[in-house]
Amino acid sequence: MTSDAERKMQFLFALRSRGVTDARVLDAMEKVDRGPFVKGLFAERAYEDMPLPIACGQTISQPSVVGLMTQALKVTPRDKVLEVGTGSGYQAAILAHLARRVYTVDRYKRLVNEARAIFDAQDITNITVFTADGSHGLPDQAPFDRILVTAAAEDPPGPLLAQLKIGGIMVVPVGQSDAVQSLIRVTRSETGYEYDELRPVRFVPLLEGLGKE
Ligand code: SAH
Repeated sequence: MTSDAERKMQFLFALRSRGVTDARVLDAMEKVDRGPFVKGLFAERAYEDMPLPIACGQTISQPSVVGLMTQALKVTPRDKVLEVGTGSGYQAAILAHLARRVYTVDRYKRLVNEARAIFDAQDITNITVFTADGSHGLPDQAPFDRILVTAAAEDPPGPLLAQLKIGGIMVVPVGQSDAVQSLIRVTRSETGYEYDELRPVRFVPLLEGLGKE
């Protein structure tokens, strides 16, 4: 039998060995228990470094990918962050440890309600969850210091680029849904946008409109 402490050590070791080295990100990932975000059949695999199925045919991302994306976003404690693709809420809970305020949106109402219930149960008070098509961003809450998209777009959506503050950073997987995608970091400067290609990734697609559930 593996103890909780051993499981946590293995979890953090897997993150480090896959390149998650930022101390604040590792600290946040140590504090946020992935268990409650994985339900049903797969709950006992929550501490493995694997993506797992969640409701509405979606997936909770692989922890090391969550760590690498969070690290690439360079979140500071003053930041107002938008996440597109709430899914289980796991990534948003990690961002909430690092940022001042997190807004997260998903196109499935069911996922939004389930994530909100976990945030409430864990007394996480700096996340606001919306059901919306996040490819339009959140005009009422914009602009954002940081934007993280956790579904793959063919190109970084224009409204999200527009809702990024000058000096702001967006991390987004870009590419066709069934092919290998690239994780891109976009940095907005006074004169325009700079793009860095970070690594190959595989995410569910960013879809238009609201989901059925
Ligand atoms: N960040 C999540 C994993 C995201 S999976 C986690 O930590 O668990 C991708 C999510 O993006 C899915 O839940 C899917 O419903 C959502 N999604 C896809 N297209 C979207 C859109 N246009 N607007 C909002 N959410 C979207």
